[in-house]
Amino acid sequence: MILPSKFQDETEKSDKPSPPLDVSVAFPQASPASVFPPSVSDYYRFDDLLSPEEKTLRMKVREFMEKEVAPIMAEYWEKAEFPFQILPKLADLGIAGFNTEGYGSPGLSITTSAIANAEIARVDASCSTFLLVHSVGMLTIASCGSEEQKQKYLPSLAQLKTIACWALTEPEYGSDASAVNTTARKVLAVSRVMVAWQPIGISMGVYDMCLRYLKERKQFGAPLAAFQLNQQKLSLMLGDIQAMTLVGWRLCKLYDKGKMTPGHASLGKSWITLRARETVVLGRELLGGNGILADFHVAKAFCDMEPIYTYEGTYDINSLVTGREITGFASFKAPEMSKHSRL
Ligand SMILES: Cc1cc2nc3c(=O)[nH]c(=O)nc-3n(C[C@H](O)[C@H](O)[C@H](O)COP(=O)(O)OP(=O)(O)OC[C@H]3O[C@@H](n4cnc5c(N)ncnc54)[C@H](O)[C@@H]3O)c2cc1C
Repeated sequence: MILPSKFQDETEKSDKPSPPLDVSVAFPQASPASVFPPSVSDYYRFDDLLSPEEKTLRMKVREFMEKEVAPIMAEYWEKAEFPFQILPKLADLGIAGFNTEGYGSPGLSITTSAIANAEIARVDASCSTFLLVHSVGMLTIASCGSEEQKQKYLPSLAQLKTIACWALTEPEYGSDASAVNTTARKVLAVSRVMVAWQPIGISMGVYDMCLRYLKERKQFGAPLAAFQLNQQKLSLMLGDIQAMTLVGWRLCKLYDKGKMTPGHASLGKSWITLRARETVVLGRELLGGNGILADFHVAKAFCDMEPIYTYEGTYDINSLVTGREITGFASFKAPEMSKHSRL
C-alpha cells in the first residue's frame, strides 16, 4: 500500500512510541475496570449461608483484588505478562494452598477455599488459575509426597516463595488421562470443585461491570440500563449466577460430608462452565464495542472463560463422567472401527 505523502512524513518523524491512551479521558461516559465496580451479584443473599469467618475472608480477598490487581490487570493482559510483584501481598492473605493441611499450609475448608478463589476470579481469572494450579501442586505433595518432600517444599510454597505447576496431561494424551505415560495413580476430584468456582467468580465480575456500565453510558438520550432488551440480558445473567452459586455451594457441602461422587463433581464443573459461558457472552454483547477492549474487563473475562471450559476435563469429558455414573455405561471409547458397514 502507498501512503499519502503527509502520512509518510509523520511516520518517519514519529520513531518514539506514543504514550498509552488514558481511557477515562478518551471515553468519559463509563468508568474503566481499573476502578473495579462494587459487588452486586448476590441477589439471593448467598452471603447469609456463610459463617462469619468465611465472610471475613471473602471481604479480605475482595479488597486485595480490587486494590492491588484491578488497576494493573488490563496492562498486564495486553503485555501477556504475569504481575509477579503482587506475590508478597497475595501470600499475606494466607490462602496459598487453600485446603492443603500442615507444613505451614492454610488448611481452609473447601467452602472457604472456593469462595476465596471465586473472589480472585471475579477480578482476574488469570490470578485465580495461577493460585489454583499452585495449590493443586501443594495438595498433591501433601497427599502423595514423602515426608522429606513435604518438609522441603510445602513451607515455601505456602508463602509463595516457590511456585508450583501441576502437570497431568501430555502432548499425546489430554482428555484420555488414563493413558498418560507418566505414572499417576491418584486423581484429586476436589480440584474439579475448585475449578467450578472460577466461572462463578468470572460471571460475578462480568455482571458487576455490566450493571455499572449500563447505568453510566447513555444512548438515544437514556442510560443503556433503561432499555428492555438490556434488562432482559442482565436478568438472565443474574439468574445464572444465583443458580451457579447454589450448585457450587452444594458441591462443597457434599464434599465436606464425604458424599461427593466423581459424577457430582463433573456435573458441577461442566454445567457451571456452560452457564458461565452464556453469562460472559451476554456481558460482551452488553458492552458493545467496549466488550472487546481490555479496559472494560469483559473481553478479558470472556477469553479467560474459554480455557476453563477445557481444562480440568473438557465440558464433554465431564458430561461423560456424569453420564457413566447415572447410566452405568462408560462411553469414552469410540465403538470398534469396523471395515464393513452392517448397513
Ligand atoms: C489454559 C490451559 C491450562 C491448562 N493447564 C493444565 C495444567 O496445569 N496441568 C495439566 O496437566 N493440564 C493442563 N491443561 C490441559 C488440559 O487439561 C487439556 O487441554 C484438556 O484435558 C483437554 O485435552 P486436549 O487439549 O488434549 O484435548 P483432546 O483430548 O485432544 O480433545 C479435543 C476435543 O475432543 C473432545 N473429546 C476427546 N475425547 C472425547 C471422547 N471420548 N468423547 C467425546 N469427546 C471427546 C474433547 O472434549 C475436546 O473437545 C491446560 C489447558 C489449558 C487450555
